[in-house]
Order: sequence, then structure tokens, then C-alpha cells
Amino acid sequence: MTIPPSAQEGELAFAARLPSVDRILADASCTPLIEQYGRTQTLAALRALLGELRAEMVIGAARDDASKGAASKNAITPDSIPALNAILAERLAHTAVSPLKQVFNLTGTVLHTNLGRALLPDVAIRAVVDALSAPMNLEFDLTTGKRGDRDDLIEDLLCELTGAEAATVVNNNAAAVLLMLNSLAPRREVIVSRGELVEIGGAFRIPDIMTRAGAKLHEVGTTNRTHLSDYADAIGPRSALLMKVHCSNYAVQGFTKSVEIEQLAQLGRTHDVPTVVDLGSGTLVDLTQYGLSREPTVRETIAAGADLVTFSGDKLLGGPQAGLIVGRADLIKKIKRNPLKRALRVGKLTLAALEPVLALYRSPEFLAERLTTLRLLIRPQPTMRAQAEKLAPLLQQALGPACLVAAEPLFSQIGSGALPVDQLPSFGLALRINSTQRQRHGNGLGRIEKRLRELPRPVLGRIANDTLWLDLRCLESADEAQFIAQLSLLSA
Ligand SMILES: *Cc1c(COP(=O)(O)O)cnc(C)c1O
Repeated sequence: MTIPPSAQEGELAFAARLPSVDRILADASCTPLIEQYGRTQTLAALRALLGELRAEMVIGAARDDASKGAASKNAITPDSIPALNAILAERLAHTAVSPLKQVFNLTGTVLHTNLGRALLPDVAIRAVVDALSAPMNLEFDLTTGKRGDRDDLIEDLLCELTGAEAATVVNNNAAAVLLMLNSLAPRREVIVSRGELVEIGGAFRIPDIMTRAGAKLHEVGTTNRTHLSDYADAIGPRSALLMKVHCSNYAVQGFTKSVEIEQLAQLGRTHDVPTVVDLGSGTLVDLTQYGLSREPTVRETIAAGADLVTFSGDKLLGGPQAGLIVGRADLIKKIKRNPLKRALRVGKLTLAALEPVLALYRSPEFLAERLTTLRLLIRPQPTMRAQAEKLAPLLQQALGPACLVAAEPLFSQIGSGALPVDQLPSFGLALRINSTQRQRHGNGLGRIEKRLRELPRPVLGRIANDTLWLDLRCLESADEAQFIAQLSLLSA
């Protein structure tokens, strides 16, 4: 019996079999890699690869020795420099793929926070590209030649669309609420109904944000019922704001009572305490004209007497991620003077995208066609039905008989806390495991979900009731060809 070499001896013995780094880099098969990825990255990837190969060989040697010389099956054994560079090319290509990918959102949730919420309309996409490619008058007044304020780019438009006196914009609505509270209620009380102490996804809770903003929460009423007298009794010398929060992602139903903004704002005015409203999604148009449920508009909220309203840019508004604050000029002025405003300000890409989205609202007759979010929300069911009937046989063919694909009606939702109980009649593909083949295929639905998720442009659906649902609401015809083209990879 031979004595196995120590790891170190083995490593040295086998390392000698690998070509040197210099020889590999100098080989013609490496030239295109150096040209594409640069010498630094190619060299780093090569060193890592050689290190792994050496370790493989040492393990392989020990294993071979234990099994008395049988060839180890798993060791990578590139037998030439071109073969090594081929492995290297594959690895470098893999690293070069951005982890951020376009996906097909067939989840049925149109404004999906995890998938980036609203898709920008074409005008906004073009504006972002322009903003990326050349300097812009972001904070420069071209009429006076003096320094400007980046809010000026959208303030007039926001005022025009909402009826507010003044406006400002920050990173997102969570930042808008934080900044508003920190500017107007530091170390003082903010009166909120217990029915509105909401948690939005991602750890945004009104009581927590209040604490972080340095304000004191004064809760009034009960979970289901809060009266005007509850607010009135709570008002005192330490009161800074009366606040209402939109119940974004839930509904309180049954024996309920909440106070209208109009009454609350009136109460606030008699005590000189401003009323502020976190509208959450917020919308600039009456959605009932498109057959959607009623959602209070920002204009109505301002008209009802709210002194400030905050809302998101990338929910129903259909723009980029942003937090908009509109309302009384004196209060907006205070907010703009807060040093936190500088920390929460938006970048030029956001402003470049936001302005044309807001401008679309000046011509409401084109909104249904040009505002992507709205277009998706109101897509006609017959269109989606025809699409489902066309795609079902194609997907069936790609997946084979283990899975049954049917075109079926289903319901989408708006998402991101907008109209949470609203269901939009939609059409899609229902994928179910063929029960005659269930034995052979185990947890087949999960496997199919995974195969769709691993496509070059991942297809994301949702599983419910032993069915994988692919809601076609967000698969517009422009993207359909790409969806169909990659189906062939499923059968491979
Ligand atoms: C969505 C939402 C927020 C948070 O808005 P972001 O833009 O996601 O930061 C805050 N309040 C309410 C009521 C919301 O619906």
C-alpha cells in the first residue's frame, strides 16, 4: 500500500501539471477575453480558476488514492490552454450579466413593489436618456443666469394639477412623511386615529416613522371608530398637527366611523393646528371614469381643506419613485428649509422622468393610452382573453404533457396599497400538473415555476390552489414576441 502524499506535497505535484498564468494569458485563445474584459479582470478570474483546479486535483488525488487509483469523476480536467480559456470565457460572461434583469410580471399585481412598481411612459424614458447624456439646468435659472432650485422644475405643474399653493419632491413617500413630521412637529404632538396607524410593507410604520421624525404620536379613537370629538379633546398646547393616513393596504369594514378631511381641517383651523394627509398612492384623476374604484384625488383632498398632502410618484401616479408634498406655501417653505430635505432630495433622473409624467395629466384624454400604469390597469378583458387563447397552446407544447395549460379568467390587483379590495377581471394561463402523471413528477408545479423563473427574461407568476397562474394583464403586445421566443428553451 502506498502512503498518500500530504496535502501540500500533492498540491505541488499537481500544480506542476497546470500551465503557468503567463502562458495562458499569452495564448491566442485568451486575447479576445483580455480585449473584452481587460487584463485585470481576466487575470483575477484566471487566478481563481487555477486555484479551484489545484484544489480539485488535490482532492481528486486523495480520492483516487483511497479508491486505489480509480479516476475521479468530478475533477475538472482541462487538457489544453484553449480548453481552460473556454471555461474562463464562460465565467467572465456570467460575471458580466447584470444581476438586475428585465422580467415578465405575470403575477397579476400591476404595481408590484418588488418588481419596481410603475413602468414609465415613453416620454419619460426619453427624458431620462437625455438627462443621462448631457448637462442640464437642474439647479440653474436660464432666464436670470443665477442658481435655481431643482423643485422649480415641477412645482408649478404640481400646483396646477392639484390646486395647491406650493409643492416639493423627495426620494419617496416614506421620506415625504418623515420630512413633513420632522419639519413641522419636532418634540410636539401629532394627533392620529388608532384606525390609521398603518404598516406599509418594508417596515414603514406610522408610529415608528413618527418617533424617528422626533414627533410624539397622540393616538385617538379606536381601531374601528374615531369621532371628531376624539380629535377635539386631544388638541392642546403641545399639538403640532392633525394627521390622516390613507388605509392603503387594508379596509376597515362593518361598524366603523372615521372623520372626513373637511371636518378635521375645520377643527384644525379653529385651533390653528394644520391638518396633514398621507394619501399613500394618491391619484391626480378620478379613476371611476375608467371603470376603476374611487380613490380620493390629491386635488379633492386639498380642496377639502388639507394643509399638506403627501403621496408616491410610482404608485397610481405612474411615474418614477418619488415622494410628493403639496399644500400651503408657508408650510412647504418650512419643509424646504429643513436640512433633512437636502439628504432626501431627488436626483436629476427622477426629476427628468417626473416632469413629463406630470405633464401627461394636462391632456387627460390621452392618459388611458399614454400613461403605462393606467393603460395596464384598464386593459380590456377580451384583449387578454384572445392573448391567452393564442399563448396557451404554445406554452402547452413547450412544457409537454406533464403540465396542462388552459386559458382562464382570473383577477388582477393594482398593488402597492392602492385600492386593496379592488379586483380587476383579467385573463391568463392556468398551469396544473397532469394528474395522470403526478406520480412521476413529484412537486411538479414548483419545478415549472422555477423553470419559468430561470429563463433569460424570467417569467414570474403566482401559485394558488395547485395552479400556477400567469396573468397576462402586464404582457402587452410589444413584449409578446420575446415571451414566445424563449418558450423553446423550456422544452430543451
Ligand atoms: C405606499 C405608502 C407609503 C410609502 O410610500 P413609498 O413611496 O413607498 O415610500 C406611505 N404611506 C402610505 C399610506 C402608503 O400607501
